[in-house]
Amino acid sequence: MRHGCWLIGLSLALVACADQVGDEDLDDEAWLDGKGDGASGSNIAATHLDVDLAGMRAVATIELERNGNVALEIGDLEIQDVTDDRGHRKFRIVDGKLLVSRVRGPLVVGYAFRQHDNADGLLPGGSTVTWPYFCGNVFPCHAQPADGTRFSLALSGVAGDKTALYPAEIAAEAPPYQLAWAVGAYAKLELGETTAGTKVAAYYLPRGKTAATTGTRHLRAVFDWYEQTLGAYSFGREVASVSVVWGEGLFGGMEHHPMWHVAVDAMSDEVTHAHEAAHGWFGDGVRIRCWEDFVLSEGTTSYLAARALSVVAGREADVWAEYRAELDAAIAEGGAPAWPRGCNQIDILEDKLFTNLPYMQGAFFYRDVAAVVGVDVLDAVIGRFYVAHRNRAAGMQDMIDAIKADTGFDPTPIAEARLRRKF
Ligand SMILES: [Zn+2]
Repeated sequence: MRHGCWLIGLSLALVACADQVGDEDLDDEAWLDGKGDGASGSNIAATHLDVDLAGMRAVATIELERNGNVALEIGDLEIQDVTDDRGHRKFRIVDGKLLVSRVRGPLVVGYAFRQHDNADGLLPGGSTVTWPYFCGNVFPCHAQPADGTRFSLALSGVAGDKTALYPAEIAAEAPPYQLAWAVGAYAKLELGETTAGTKVAAYYLPRGKTAATTGTRHLRAVFDWYEQTLGAYSFGREVASVSVVWGEGLFGGMEHHPMWHVAVDAMSDEVTHAHEAAHGWFGDGVRIRCWEDFVLSEGTTSYLAARALSVVAGREADVWAEYRAELDAAIAEGGAPAWPRGCNQIDILEDKLFTNLPYMQGAFFYRDVAAVVGVDVLDAVIGRFYVAHRNRAAGMQDMIDAIKADTGFDPTPIAEARLRRKF
């Protein structure tokens, strides 16, 4: 009995002693030298950005999922100061990553950023694009879409004749490329409220009113259809399509919910608005687990945009005819299979996964499935899938499994023919 007590006393003393050593030994030098296992760093829980556009400087306050070592992608940011609960911290930059060890409490990073010309950061047109993995050119981040983060953003230094459009807060976990801002001489088009009470709007640039009015004439109804068919929207009570100047040859949009961007040349195109809005449910609402699951984001949203426009605008025949032409062109051009095997082994840009194949083969995959199980039945499967995986990461295999479990129909042969095949 006495002996046992003595042992307990000794081990407590050792623990206390180890704790003290830990305090004095502030840094993990092996981690700072880039010799640590990069994957063992803490994930990000929340990212708070305070951006001064006039000075091109910012402060990022990053809440980690746990205290410990951290490796953040920083692109070409110029890091000026790093602090945590223990004050100024030693940091190193190795292979484009900011390494800080034994972080305690939120990590606060002061930095300068630069303008970018290749759709990989803050663009000359006044908006940001960081998809797929360029968040590090705007703020310290993990570019993997599976690592969701909440966001808050404050912008200062905006020129007096312009408006800055951005969400002050994204309160549900979002992929790193979801956050963006747009600065321009904007005017607002109110589009009304959905049944669930979400306010829908569009923001257009000078001389853009006609195109914006044409492109968003069914957007409120489209958004309403998504909410009613798929489930509650995650990213706030006010949403909008925002016209942006991306530059020559760049068409389409980007899923910066709740204020997604649409290139100025695509503002009159209803499909683009409906597609970007659908990312509130897939791509943003349900994140992709691996880059190889890109089709779960783009194929699903392409299908949902066609479904919504078919229901609310009677545009089934012409949207699918347009998709058919896009599919034929994508097959002729070739690229990676729409759904490559593996997880984060592919470089989505270098390995040509970013073609129209995941978009169009994905849309036709769902259309083929709907032809067997019924369009309304498939809508319900996609809705249940969204609710089950909302604000978390999922893969395309999960969707195939859900279709099989819910309907009894195994869509694997369709997936093999459309999504696994290389053209
Ligand atoms: Zn998309």
